[in-house]
Amino acid sequence: MKRLLIITLCLFAAFGARADRVRVRLYSPNTISTLNVSFDLGNYNLYADDNLLLEDMVGEGRSVLVRAEDKMLHVSVNDDDYGRFSSIRLEAVDSACILCINPEGCKQRTYEGNLEVRMQPSGNLLLVADVDFETYIAGVVQSEIYGQQSDIFRIQAIISRTWALRNLGKHAADGYNFCDHVHCQAYLNRCIRPDIMMGVVQSSGETIVDAEGNLIETPFHSNSGGQTANSEDVWRSALPYLRSVEDTFSLHMRQSDWVKTISIDRWLAYFSKTHKLNIKDTAVRDSLLHFAQPTRRVRIMGVPLTRVRVDLKLKSTFFSVEVDSTTQSVILRGHGYGHGVGLSQEGAIRMVGLGIAYDSVIRHYYTGAVLHHDPSANGAYVENYTQHLARIIEEDKNRQTQTHSKKDDWLGRLFRLRDREEREEVYIENQQDIEQDWEYEW
Ligand SMILES: [Zn+2]
Repeated sequence: MKRLLIITLCLFAAFGARADRVRVRLYSPNTISTLNVSFDLGNYNLYADDNLLLEDMVGEGRSVLVRAEDKMLHVSVNDDDYGRFSSIRLEAVDSACILCINPEGCKQRTYEGNLEVRMQPSGNLLLVADVDFETYIAGVVQSEIYGQQSDIFRIQAIISRTWALRNLGKHAADGYNFCDHVHCQAYLNRCIRPDIMMGVVQSSGETIVDAEGNLIETPFHSNSGGQTANSEDVWRSALPYLRSVEDTFSLHMRQSDWVKTISIDRWLAYFSKTHKLNIKDTAVRDSLLHFAQPTRRVRIMGVPLTRVRVDLKLKSTFFSVEVDSTTQSVILRGHGYGHGVGLSQEGAIRMVGLGIAYDSVIRHYYTGAVLHHDPSANGAYVENYTQHLARIIEEDKNRQTQTHSKKDDWLGRLFRLRDREEREEVYIENQQDIEQDWEYEW
Protein backbone atom coordinates (compact mmCIF):
# COMPACT_ATOMS: atom_id res chain seq x y z
CA MET A 1 0.00 0.00 0.00
CA LYS A 2 1.29 3.40 -1.00
CA ARG A 3 1.28 4.98 2.41
CA LEU A 4 3.73 7.75 3.01
CA LEU A 5 4.38 6.91 6.59
CA ILE A 6 7.00 8.97 8.31
CA ILE A 7 8.70 7.14 11.13
CA THR A 8 8.52 9.52 14.05
CA LEU A 9 10.65 9.34 17.12
CA CYS A 10 7.94 10.20 19.59
CA LEU A 11 7.07 7.23 21.72
CA PHE A 12 3.84 6.93 23.63
CA ALA A 13 3.78 4.52 26.53
CA ALA A 14 1.33 1.76 25.69
CA PHE A 15 0.09 1.48 29.19
CA GLY A 16 -2.41 4.25 29.60
CA ALA A 17 -2.39 5.33 25.93
CA ARG A 18 -6.08 5.99 25.47
CA ALA A 19 -8.38 8.12 23.40
CA ASP A 20 -12.12 8.46 23.82
CA ARG A 21 -12.73 10.75 20.90
CA VAL A 22 -10.66 11.97 17.96
CA ARG A 23 -10.91 14.87 15.55
CA VAL A 24 -10.52 13.86 11.91
CA ARG A 25 -10.32 16.21 8.95
CA LEU A 26 -12.73 15.00 6.24
CA TYR A 27 -12.24 15.32 2.47
CA SER A 28 -8.70 16.44 3.23
CA PRO A 29 -7.36 16.27 -0.36
CA ASN A 30 -10.34 18.26 -1.73
CA THR A 31 -10.99 21.97 -2.12
CA ILE A 32 -14.47 22.67 -0.78
CA SER A 33 -16.39 25.91 -1.12
CA THR A 34 -20.00 24.68 -0.81
CA LEU A 35 -21.33 21.99 1.48
CA ASN A 36 -24.74 20.45 2.10
CA VAL A 37 -25.35 18.46 5.28
CA SER A 38 -28.46 16.37 5.81
CA PHE A 39 -29.38 14.02 8.61
CA ASP A 40 -29.83 10.29 8.26
CA LEU A 41 -30.53 9.62 11.89
CA GLY A 42 -31.06 11.55 15.11
CA ASN A 43 -31.17 15.22 15.96
CA TYR A 44 -28.42 17.79 16.20
CA ASN A 45 -27.83 21.14 17.82
CA LEU A 46 -26.43 23.78 15.50
CA TYR A 47 -23.86 26.18 16.96
CA ALA A 48 -22.53 29.19 15.06
CA ASP A 49 -19.42 30.98 16.39
CA ASP A 50 -19.93 28.95 19.61
CA ASN A 51 -23.47 30.27 20.17
CA LEU A 52 -26.43 27.91 20.02
CA LEU A 53 -28.40 28.76 16.88
CA LEU A 54 -30.85 25.86 16.65
CA GLU A 55 -31.52 23.43 19.47
CA ASP A 56 -32.49 19.81 18.87
CA MET A 57 -34.12 20.82 15.63
CA VAL A 58 -31.85 20.08 12.76
CA GLY A 59 -33.02 16.49 12.30
CA GLU A 60 -34.33 14.30 9.53
CA GLY A 61 -35.91 16.16 6.65
CA ARG A 62 -33.75 19.22 7.18
CA SER A 63 -30.53 20.25 5.54
CA VAL A 64 -27.85 22.81 6.28
CA LEU A 65 -26.19 24.61 3.38
CA VAL A 66 -22.80 26.24 3.99
CA ARG A 67 -21.15 28.45 1.36
CA ALA A 68 -17.74 30.09 1.59
CA GLU A 69 -18.18 33.77 0.76
CA ASP A 70 -15.69 36.59 1.40
CA LYS A 71 -13.85 34.45 3.96
CA MET A 72 -17.05 33.85 5.96
CA LEU A 73 -19.45 30.90 6.17
CA HIS A 74 -22.83 31.76 4.74
CA VAL A 75 -25.31 29.44 6.49
CA SER A 76 -28.87 28.54 5.56
CA VAL A 77 -31.16 25.83 6.91
CA ASN A 78 -33.87 24.56 4.56
CA ASP A 79 -33.51 27.73 2.45
CA ASP A 80 -33.86 30.06 5.49
CA ASP A 81 -30.88 32.37 5.65
CA TYR A 82 -29.17 32.39 9.07
CA GLY A 83 -26.33 34.81 8.34
CA ARG A 84 -22.53 34.75 8.13
CA PHE A 85 -20.18 33.19 10.66
CA SER A 86 -16.55 32.13 11.13
CA SER A 87 -17.38 28.57 12.17
CA ILE A 88 -20.32 26.27 12.79
CA ARG A 89 -20.66 23.05 14.76
CA LEU A 90 -23.30 20.35 14.45
CA GLU A 91 -23.46 18.51 17.74
CA ALA A 92 -25.20 15.13 17.96
CA VAL A 93 -27.85 14.99 20.67
CA ASP A 94 -27.26 11.26 21.33
CA SER A 95 -24.73 8.58 20.32
CA ALA A 96 -26.66 7.12 17.37
CA CYS A 97 -26.76 10.20 15.13
CA ILE A 98 -25.67 9.99 11.51
CA LEU A 99 -24.77 12.89 9.23
CA CYS A 100 -24.86 12.82 5.46
CA ILE A 101 -22.14 15.11 4.09
CA ASN A 102 -22.27 16.30 0.51
CA PRO A 103 -19.61 18.81 -0.60
CA GLU A 104 -20.02 20.22 -4.08
CA GLY A 105 -18.00 18.23 -6.60
CA CYS A 106 -17.31 15.32 -4.22
CA LYS A 107 -18.97 12.00 -3.44
CA GLN A 108 -21.45 11.98 -0.60
CA ARG A 109 -20.38 10.24 2.61
CA THR A 110 -22.01 9.47 5.94
CA TYR A 111 -20.43 9.77 9.38
CA GLU A 112 -21.38 9.38 13.00
CA GLY A 113 -20.52 12.04 15.57
CA ASN A 114 -20.22 15.81 15.43
CA LEU A 115 -19.12 18.01 12.57
CA GLU A 116 -17.25 21.29 12.69
CA VAL A 117 -16.92 23.56 9.64
CA ARG A 118 -14.36 26.36 9.70
CA MET A 119 -13.02 28.88 7.24
CA GLN A 120 -9.45 28.27 6.06
CA PRO A 121 -7.08 31.16 5.29
CA SER A 122 -7.39 30.11 1.62
CA GLY A 123 -11.10 30.98 1.71
CA ASN A 124 -12.20 27.32 1.48
CA LEU A 125 -14.04 25.19 4.01
CA LEU A 126 -12.32 22.95 6.55
CA LEU A 127 -14.44 19.98 7.71
CA VAL A 128 -13.54 18.23 10.96
CA ALA A 129 -15.45 15.29 12.41
CA ASP A 130 -15.37 14.77 16.17
CA VAL A 131 -16.02 11.06 16.61
CA ASP A 132 -15.80 8.25 19.15
CA PHE A 133 -12.33 6.66 18.83
CA GLU A 134 -13.48 3.08 18.19
CA THR A 135 -16.16 4.24 15.74
CA TYR A 136 -13.34 5.98 13.86
CA ILE A 137 -11.28 2.75 13.92
CA ALA A 138 -14.22 0.79 12.46
CA GLY A 139 -14.50 3.33 9.61
CA VAL A 140 -10.75 3.06 8.99
CA VAL A 141 -10.86 -0.76 8.89
CA GLN A 142 -13.70 -0.63 6.36
CA SER A 143 -11.69 1.81 4.21
CA GLU A 144 -8.33 0.06 4.48
CA ILE A 145 -8.89 -3.67 3.93
CA TYR A 146 -11.08 -6.13 2.08
CA GLY A 147 -11.87 -9.64 3.24
CA GLN A 148 -14.53 -11.82 4.70
CA GLN A 149 -13.22 -13.31 7.93
CA SER A 150 -13.66 -11.40 11.15
CA ASP A 151 -10.03 -12.08 12.19
CA ILE A 152 -8.72 -10.02 9.27
CA PHE A 153 -10.80 -7.08 10.52
CA ARG A 154 -9.55 -7.75 14.03
CA ILE A 155 -5.93 -7.61 12.81
CA GLN A 156 -6.50 -4.40 10.83
CA ALA A 157 -8.29 -2.86 13.83
CA ILE A 158 -5.32 -3.63 16.12
CA ILE A 159 -2.85 -2.16 13.61
CA SER A 160 -4.96 0.94 12.97
CA ARG A 161 -5.64 1.49 16.69
CA THR A 162 -1.94 1.15 17.53
CA TRP A 163 -1.00 3.60 14.78
CA ALA A 164 -3.69 6.08 15.84
CA LEU A 165 -2.75 6.01 19.55
CA ARG A 166 0.93 6.46 18.71
CA ASN A 167 0.23 9.30 16.29
CA LEU A 168 -2.51 11.24 18.11
CA GLY A 169 -0.49 14.44 17.75
CA LYS A 170 0.23 14.08 14.04
CA HIS A 171 -1.91 17.06 13.00
CA ALA A 172 -1.87 18.88 16.35
CA ALA A 173 -0.67 22.09 14.70
CA ASP A 174 -3.67 21.98 12.35
CA GLY A 175 -6.22 21.63 15.16
CA TYR A 176 -7.18 18.00 14.61
CA ASN A 177 -5.69 14.53 15.18
CA PHE A 178 -5.75 12.94 11.74
CA CYS A 179 -6.64 13.56 8.12
CA ASP A 180 -8.88 11.03 6.35
CA HIS A 181 -6.37 10.27 3.62
CA VAL A 182 -3.53 7.75 3.28
CA HIS A 183 -1.15 10.32 4.80
CA CYS A 184 -2.74 9.18 8.08
CA GLN A 185 -5.32 6.40 7.60
CA ALA A 186 -8.17 6.28 5.06
CA TYR A 187 -11.51 7.07 6.73
CA LEU A 188 -13.90 7.27 3.84
CA ASN A 189 -17.26 6.56 5.43
CA ARG A 190 -18.84 5.37 8.63
CA CYS A 191 -18.61 1.61 9.07
CA ILE A 192 -21.79 -0.05 7.83
CA ARG A 193 -20.63 -3.66 7.91
CA PRO A 194 -21.57 -5.66 10.99
CA ASP A 195 -18.69 -8.15 10.44
CA ILE A 196 -16.18 -5.28 10.56
CA MET A 197 -17.79 -3.85 13.69
CA MET A 198 -17.54 -7.30 15.24
CA GLY A 199 -13.80 -7.47 14.43
CA VAL A 200 -13.30 -4.07 16.04
CA VAL A 201 -15.22 -5.07 19.16
CA GLN A 202 -13.31 -8.36 19.45
CA SER A 203 -10.04 -6.43 19.35
CA SER A 204 -11.16 -3.80 21.82
CA GLY A 205 -8.28 -2.67 24.05
CA GLU A 206 -5.68 -4.57 21.98
CA THR A 207 -2.56 -2.79 20.75
CA ILE A 208 0.92 -3.87 19.60
CA VAL A 209 3.91 -2.96 21.74
CA ASP A 210 7.67 -3.61 21.73
CA ALA A 211 9.62 -5.41 24.45
CA GLU A 212 9.67 -2.19 26.56
CA GLY A 213 5.91 -1.77 26.31
CA ASN A 214 5.98 1.15 23.85
CA LEU A 215 3.43 1.29 21.06
CA ILE A 216 5.14 0.36 17.80
CA GLU A 217 4.84 1.86 14.32
CA THR A 218 2.56 -0.45 12.33
CA PRO A 219 3.04 0.20 8.61
CA PHE A 220 1.25 -2.10 6.20
CA HIS A 221 1.02 -2.56 2.46
CA SER A 222 -1.04 -4.47 -0.06
CA ASN A 223 1.28 -7.40 -0.86
CA SER A 224 4.94 -8.10 -0.02
CA GLY A 225 5.55 -10.27 -3.11
CA GLY A 226 7.03 -13.04 -0.97
CA GLN A 227 9.45 -11.09 1.23
CA THR A 228 8.87 -8.01 3.35
CA ALA A 229 11.37 -5.11 3.52
CA ASN A 230 13.46 -3.67 6.37
CA SER A 231 12.24 -0.27 7.55
CA GLU A 232 15.63 1.37 6.85
CA ASP A 233 15.54 0.13 3.24
CA VAL A 234 12.47 2.30 2.63
CA TRP A 235 12.64 5.02 5.29
CA ARG A 236 15.45 6.24 7.53
CA SER A 237 15.05 4.42 10.83
CA ALA A 238 16.01 0.82 11.42
CA LEU A 239 13.32 -0.46 13.78
CA PRO A 240 13.88 -3.84 15.42
CA TYR A 241 10.30 -5.00 14.79
CA LEU A 242 10.24 -3.97 11.11
CA ARG A 243 12.58 -6.63 9.74
CA SER A 244 12.53 -8.28 6.34
CA VAL A 245 10.87 -11.71 6.62
CA GLU A 246 10.14 -14.44 4.11
CA ASP A 247 6.43 -14.27 3.33
CA THR A 248 5.17 -17.11 1.16
CA PHE A 249 1.61 -16.26 2.28
CA SER A 250 1.67 -13.28 -0.09
CA LEU A 251 2.32 -15.49 -3.15
CA HIS A 252 -0.47 -16.37 -5.59
CA MET A 253 -2.69 -13.55 -4.43
CA ARG A 254 -4.27 -10.78 -6.47
CA GLN A 255 -1.35 -8.35 -6.15
CA SER A 256 1.48 -10.93 -6.03
CA ASP A 257 3.00 -10.27 -9.44
CA TRP A 258 3.22 -7.51 -11.99
CA VAL A 259 4.92 -6.90 -15.33
CA LYS A 260 5.90 -3.62 -16.94
CA THR A 261 7.55 -3.16 -20.31
CA ILE A 262 9.72 -0.12 -21.06
CA SER A 263 11.86 0.54 -24.13
CA ILE A 264 15.57 -0.11 -23.59
CA ASP A 265 16.30 3.48 -24.60
CA ARG A 266 13.95 4.93 -21.99
CA TRP A 267 15.22 2.61 -19.25
CA LEU A 268 18.86 3.52 -19.86
CA ALA A 269 18.10 7.21 -20.45
CA TYR A 270 16.40 7.36 -17.05
CA PHE A 271 19.60 6.25 -15.27
CA SER A 272 21.78 8.40 -17.47
CA LYS A 273 19.78 11.65 -17.16
CA THR A 274 18.41 11.36 -13.64
CA HIS A 275 21.26 9.54 -11.92
CA LYS A 276 24.22 10.46 -14.15
CA LEU A 277 25.28 6.85 -14.77
CA ASN A 278 27.61 6.30 -17.73
CA ILE A 279 25.47 4.03 -19.87
CA LYS A 280 28.14 3.87 -22.57
CA ASP A 281 30.17 1.73 -20.18
CA THR A 282 29.38 -1.90 -21.05
CA ALA A 283 29.57 -3.07 -17.44
CA VAL A 284 27.04 -0.39 -16.36
CA ARG A 285 24.68 -1.24 -19.25
CA ASP A 286 24.90 -4.95 -18.46
CA SER A 287 24.12 -4.39 -14.80
CA LEU A 288 21.10 -2.23 -15.65
CA LEU A 289 19.78 -4.63 -18.29
CA HIS A 290 20.26 -7.83 -16.30
CA PHE A 291 19.39 -6.75 -12.78
CA ALA A 292 17.93 -9.59 -10.68
CA GLN A 293 16.41 -9.86 -7.22
CA PRO A 294 16.06 -13.49 -6.12
CA THR A 295 15.67 -11.84 -2.72
CA ARG A 296 15.00 -8.14 -2.06
CA ARG A 297 17.79 -5.69 -2.80
CA VAL A 298 17.97 -2.02 -1.88
CA ARG A 299 19.80 -0.43 -4.82
CA ILE A 300 20.41 -0.86 -8.52
CA MET A 301 23.87 0.43 -9.51
CA GLY A 302 23.88 2.61 -6.38
CA VAL A 303 20.44 4.12 -7.10
CA PRO A 304 17.85 3.48 -4.35
CA LEU A 305 15.09 1.24 -5.70
CA THR A 306 12.56 3.30 -3.73
CA ARG A 307 13.49 6.26 -5.95
CA VAL A 308 13.18 4.17 -9.14
CA ARG A 309 9.77 2.95 -7.96
CA VAL A 310 8.44 6.50 -7.49
CA ASP A 311 9.98 7.92 -10.69
CA LEU A 312 8.78 5.10 -12.94
CA LYS A 313 5.49 4.52 -11.08
CA LEU A 314 6.23 0.87 -10.31
CA LYS A 315 4.02 -1.20 -8.00
CA SER A 316 7.00 -2.28 -5.86
CA THR A 317 10.80 -2.20 -5.65
CA PHE A 318 10.95 -6.01 -5.78
CA PHE A 319 11.53 -6.63 -9.51
CA SER A 320 14.02 -8.13 -11.94
CA VAL A 321 14.93 -6.96 -15.44
CA GLU A 322 14.91 -9.00 -18.67
CA VAL A 323 15.75 -7.84 -22.17
CA ASP A 324 13.46 -8.54 -25.12
CA SER A 325 15.73 -7.94 -28.09
CA THR A 326 12.93 -8.38 -30.65
CA THR A 327 11.03 -5.38 -29.34
CA GLN A 328 14.10 -3.58 -27.98
CA SER A 329 12.47 -3.39 -24.57
CA VAL A 330 13.17 -4.31 -20.98
CA ILE A 331 10.57 -6.37 -19.16
CA LEU A 332 10.34 -5.60 -15.44
CA ARG A 333 8.92 -8.64 -13.64
CA GLY A 334 7.86 -7.56 -10.19
CA HIS A 335 6.42 -8.99 -7.02
CA GLY A 336 3.97 -7.42 -4.60
CA TYR A 337 2.34 -4.03 -4.30
CA GLY A 338 3.39 -1.28 -1.93
CA HIS A 339 6.45 -0.35 0.14
CA GLY A 340 6.82 -3.86 1.59
CA VAL A 341 7.42 -2.84 5.23
CA GLY A 342 5.40 -4.42 8.07
CA LEU A 343 2.19 -6.32 7.44
CA SER A 344 1.21 -7.56 3.99
CA GLN A 345 -2.58 -7.30 3.87
CA GLU A 346 -3.01 -10.04 1.29
CA GLY A 347 -0.54 -12.23 3.17
CA ALA A 348 -2.56 -11.69 6.34
CA ILE A 349 -5.79 -12.51 4.47
CA ARG A 350 -4.19 -15.78 3.29
CA MET A 351 -2.91 -16.65 6.79
CA VAL A 352 -6.33 -16.07 8.33
CA GLY A 353 -7.86 -18.19 5.55
CA LEU A 354 -5.47 -21.00 6.52
CA GLY A 355 -6.73 -20.84 10.08
CA ILE A 356 -3.65 -19.16 11.57
CA ALA A 357 -4.48 -17.24 14.75
CA TYR A 358 -4.64 -13.44 14.49
CA ASP A 359 -1.87 -12.89 17.07
CA SER A 360 0.48 -15.22 15.15
CA VAL A 361 -0.22 -13.22 11.97
CA ILE A 362 0.76 -10.03 13.78
CA ARG A 363 3.95 -11.60 15.16
CA HIS A 364 4.87 -12.92 11.68
CA TYR A 365 4.97 -9.39 10.26
CA TYR A 366 6.14 -7.39 13.31
CA THR A 367 9.23 -9.19 14.63
CA GLY A 368 9.26 -9.60 18.40
CA ALA A 369 6.03 -7.63 18.79
CA VAL A 370 3.85 -8.18 21.83
CA LEU A 371 0.08 -7.96 21.84
CA HIS A 372 -1.02 -5.81 24.75
CA HIS A 373 -4.55 -6.02 26.07
CA ASP A 374 -6.17 -3.38 28.23
CA PRO A 375 -9.58 -4.82 29.17
CA SER A 376 -10.83 -1.51 30.52
CA ALA A 377 -10.12 0.46 27.33
CA ASN A 378 -12.99 1.58 25.15
CA GLY A 379 -15.59 -0.09 27.29
CA ALA A 380 -18.21 2.41 26.19
CA TYR A 381 -18.03 1.30 22.58
CA VAL A 382 -18.38 -2.37 23.51
CA GLU A 383 -21.23 -1.54 25.85
CA ASN A 384 -23.13 0.41 23.20
CA TYR A 385 -22.28 -2.06 20.49
CA THR A 386 -25.30 -4.37 20.53
CA GLN A 387 -27.83 -1.59 20.65
CA HIS A 388 -25.87 0.49 18.16
CA LEU A 389 -25.52 -2.37 15.70
CA ALA A 390 -29.20 -3.32 15.86
CA ARG A 391 -30.15 0.26 15.16
CA ILE A 392 -27.73 0.60 12.26
CA ILE A 393 -28.96 -2.61 10.63
CA GLU A 394 -32.54 -1.41 10.98
CA GLU A 395 -31.69 2.01 9.57
CA ASP A 396 -29.78 0.55 6.65
CA LYS A 397 -32.72 -1.69 5.83
CA ASN A 398 -35.03 1.30 5.68
CA ARG A 399 -32.66 3.66 3.95
CA GLN A 400 -33.63 4.36 0.38
CA THR A 401 -30.30 5.71 -0.82
CA GLN A 402 -27.34 3.62 0.28
CA THR A 403 -24.00 5.39 0.24
CA HIS A 404 -21.66 2.77 -1.13
CA SER A 405 -18.39 3.82 -2.72
CA LYS A 406 -17.22 2.46 -6.05
CA LYS A 407 -14.75 0.36 -4.10
CA ASP A 408 -17.62 -1.27 -2.17
CA ASP A 409 -19.32 -2.03 -5.47
CA TRP A 410 -16.20 -3.66 -6.88
CA LEU A 411 -15.57 -5.66 -3.73
CA GLY A 412 -19.16 -6.83 -3.74
CA ARG A 413 -18.92 -7.92 -7.38
CA LEU A 414 -15.59 -9.64 -6.95
CA PHE A 415 -16.40 -11.47 -3.77
CA ARG A 416 -19.75 -12.73 -5.02
CA LEU A 417 -17.69 -14.79 -7.46
CA ARG A 418 -16.75 -17.87 -5.49
CA ASP A 419 -14.34 -19.26 -8.03
CA ARG A 420 -10.92 -17.66 -7.70
CA GLU A 421 -10.10 -17.94 -11.40
CA GLU A 422 -13.37 -16.33 -12.37
CA ARG A 423 -12.65 -13.55 -9.88
CA GLU A 424 -9.21 -13.05 -11.42
CA GLU A 425 -10.76 -12.88 -14.87
CA VAL A 426 -13.26 -10.20 -13.88
CA TYR A 427 -10.52 -8.33 -12.07
CA ILE A 428 -8.16 -8.38 -15.06
CA GLU A 429 -10.96 -7.41 -17.46
CA ASN A 430 -11.79 -4.35 -15.37
CA GLN A 431 -8.34 -3.70 -13.92
CA GLN A 432 -8.07 -0.18 -15.26
CA ASP A 433 -11.41 0.92 -13.79
CA ILE A 434 -10.78 -0.81 -10.48
CA GLU A 435 -7.34 0.69 -10.02
CA GLN A 436 -8.62 4.10 -11.00
CA ASP A 437 -11.35 3.88 -8.36
CA TRP A 438 -8.92 2.60 -5.73
CA GLU A 439 -5.96 4.66 -6.86
CA TYR A 440 -5.56 6.95 -3.92
CA GLU A 441 -5.66 4.09 -1.45
CA TRP A 442 -2.82 2.03 -2.86
ZN1 LIG B 1 -2.61 13.14 7.77
